[in-house]
Amino acid sequence: MGDGRGEEYLFKIVLIGDSAVGKSNLLSRFARNEFHANSKATIGVEFQTQSLKIDGREVQAQLWDTAGQERFRAVTSAYYRGAVGALIVYDITRKLTFDNVARWLDELRMHSDTILVTMLVGNKRDLGELREVLVEEGTAYAEAEGLMFLETSALDATNVNTAFHNVVKEIYNSYT
Ligand code: GDP
Ligand code: MG
Repeated sequence: MGDGRGEEYLFKIVLIGDSAVGKSNLLSRFARNEFHANSKATIGVEFQTQSLKIDGREVQAQLWDTAGQERFRAVTSAYYRGAVGALIVYDITRKLTFDNVARWLDELRMHSDTILVTMLVGNKRDLGELREVLVEEGTAYAEAEGLMFLETSALDATNVNTAFHNVVKEIYNSYT
């Protein structure tokens, strides 16, 4: 990756996690400041390239969203190939999606050829009254597995920019 001077940084980052946890909405909130209350399952693999300023330098984040293939083993190795960052998303109102994080982490580690900066993301924190996963549970799991951690809301935009920005910054720092 060189010293970065006069070079472009392009980091591939994948979003993974169970269906309907809010991956596509986190991406649309971050990239376009949009939220879709009735989003349909994403068709086909999609990615968006988003430009960020890190330490005064332009960095491109290529953000990959799964294609509604969130059953285990359905996400192909091409999806993970070359990724240097990942967000593993669960829904704080559905315990099962948190329990499945371990399997997503296994898949990620199995497919990734490069060292990944990984953030655990507990989404839908605006739905606090329906919460099934405590913040402390997310924190403890992330700490045990060496992951970054944030709770977010794609609906009210809480921590969405911060989540992507922190992941990109951590990747950037590991290359400089
Ligand atoms: P994906 O399958 O992981 O890509 O999930 P989607 O982004 O398609 O979201 C699934 C459903 O959850 C949709 O109805 C969204 O409107 C809703 N959703 C996503 N993020 C949030 C959030 O932060 N808060 C709330 N209340 N709903 C959300
Ligand atoms: Mg989706």
